[in-house]
Amino acid sequence: MRSTAVSRRFLADPSVTGGCLCGGVRFELTEPATAAGYCHCTRCQRRTGTGASAQARIDGRTFRLLQGEELVKAWRPPDSGFEKCFCRECGAHLFSRNPEDPTQMSVRMGAFDGDPGVRPSWRAYVDYAAPWEPIPEDGLERFAEGKSRF
Ligand SMILES: [Zn+2]
Ligand SMILES: [Zn+2]
Repeated sequence: MRSTAVSRRFLADPSVTGGCLCGGVRFELTEPATAAGYCHCTRCQRRTGTGASAQARIDGRTFRLLQGEELVKAWRPPDSGFEKCFCRECGAHLFSRNPEDPTQMSVRMGAFDGDPGVRPSWRAYVDYAAPWEPIPEDGLERFAEGKSRF
């Protein structure tokens, strides 16, 4: 009989688990993400090095950091906004959080181990989209600025 910790690891649903590139940081959600979207803001372009960021919005109360808390670096934009959390060892982007209300979080879609189930259904900050990557005609709802969480 395996220890509870080990068998739990094997049984963990990859749609709700994830981590960074080096494996130092691991997390899980107690509930699957229910909403997701693309963000084309210039901050997301900078931090990802790409044209947009795909992220799932979650309730921070469903988020559990399983390991690597000491590796998670949170960068808070000087002029307000969600803090951006990444692995200080490998640089992988993991999640963002409202410092004033930690129940408001987003997890980077690429940080999940498997298919998180949810699909991006909107594009935010399209007015700031990278000139080198036209926004595809995919029918997703578009927002010139941010999309409200409610
Ligand atoms: Zn890492
Ligand atoms: Zn953004």
